[in-house]
Amino acid sequence: MAGRIREESIAEVREKARIDEVVSSYVTLRNAGGGSQKGLCPFHDEKSPSFHVTPARQFWHCFGCGEGGDVINFLMKIDGLTFVESVERLADKYGVQLRREEGDVREDRPKGPSRQRLIEAHREAQEFYAGHLATPDALVARQFLSDRGFDQAAAEQFGIGFSPREGEALFKHLRAKAFSQEELVVGGLVAVGRSAYDRFRGRLMWPIRDATGDTIGFGARRIFDDDRIEAKYLNTSETPIYKKSQVLYGIDLARREIARSSQAVIVEGYTDVMACHLSGVGTAVATCGTAFGDEHSRVLRRFLNDHEEFRGEVIFTFDGDAAGQKAALRAFGGDQNFVSQTYVAVEPSGMDPCDLRIKSGDAAVRELVARRVPLYRFVLSNVVAKYDLDRADSRIDALREAARLVSSIRDKSKVDAFSRELAGMIGVDVDEARAEVRRAANRPASRQDQRQTTRNPEEPVSAAPRNPVPDLRDPRFKLERETLKLVLQHR
Ligand SMILES: [Zn+2]
Repeated sequence: MAGRIREESIAEVREKARIDEVVSSYVTLRNAGGGSQKGLCPFHDEKSPSFHVTPARQFWHCFGCGEGGDVINFLMKIDGLTFVESVERLADKYGVQLRREEGDVREDRPKGPSRQRLIEAHREAQEFYAGHLATPDALVARQFLSDRGFDQAAAEQFGIGFSPREGEALFKHLRAKAFSQEELVVGGLVAVGRSAYDRFRGRLMWPIRDATGDTIGFGARRIFDDDRIEAKYLNTSETPIYKKSQVLYGIDLARREIARSSQAVIVEGYTDVMACHLSGVGTAVATCGTAFGDEHSRVLRRFLNDHEEFRGEVIFTFDGDAAGQKAALRAFGGDQNFVSQTYVAVEPSGMDPCDLRIKSGDAAVRELVARRVPLYRFVLSNVVAKYDLDRADSRIDALREAARLVSSIRDKSKVDAFSRELAGMIGVDVDEARAEVRRAANRPASRQDQRQTTRNPEEPVSAAPRNPVPDLRDPRFKLERETLKLVLQHR
């Protein structure tokens, strides 16, 4: 076991590690004059940048939440590293040879495998899987890729691989490289039943990387009919380095372009991210096995060059079908800081970017994104489209339902513009639409919306305002009701 790192090595790391470069992997920085740079603070939620980095002094400070420090503690804080892990990671990146106290073998690390070890195991695993994509067993995997328009160069660019079907090929490989069983299990690469076995077997493998390009997990697609696991996609489960509520597939490739263009495109899956990037939409990312949530939006906002004068754009690609409309509605009810910057790109034929690229080529994917419409307009027109606007009574119903949505928008400065647009859509007087929106805001059912306008922006927003409290006598709730009764009676 190595001894404590010497002070002079730590000083050398501080000196050689470029703080602006390190921070830029997490936050988009722009010039703030006086030799300092600023961006949106990753440690508190804010709309205008108060997070400053001063490279000359190797120092960062946030005027919003008061946090600050040097490059080592920035990494500790943002990635949850220990001091030693943070120093080791920077030393590795900036080529500093760490010298350690002799004889001092104090263990200054908490229990469990270090982040560095988990990252190394994933790097080895990624290479292992990628190497197996060329084997005869992986024919189906290669076929899958070529059917979707991805050639070998694309597979290499995205680091795609194949996990062998034998139950413990990766386990044996990594054990031979001196990784412990504990490291592999904690990292989610190996599971333990009666004995240790590979978590992913006989699947097409996408490495999921963090913004700095380190592989932190995998997405694995079913390709064999006799795969005993039915799920089409398996993803790494939660590990110390993989948090699915924050992970965005493609962020390593997209972050620079997202910062440059102040635009991010959210697609549904791995192949859609690939199709977008290969078509020239370099801002595409996807969530992995979970819906896009508030934590994802917070991560994304740090990369968007989002400031007062120009708000970044977030574009969701949804299917035009009912599921897509539901997803849009959910996004609408989500982080409302985003609503006025959120757009929807819908392909009328319902094709996702991957299918669209196969059928119509790269330009069609770029056009799909360019044809984006504001989210609120998409949601409102879906609501309005359900009604027959030739009938006066239907127009009133349409207005009533849409007005409820408009009144739920927390950014009150937007409400009037949306009301006007709504009036145009339905074909009623602007004043009538405004009045209906006001009425909707005052209706008892919207109490929840009013509470939301004053809630703490840190809290996740529920999409509840449009769902009235269900009737608890409904037979659907019987099981829950009876269970609760039991719980209350037998503590
Ligand atoms: Zn802050």
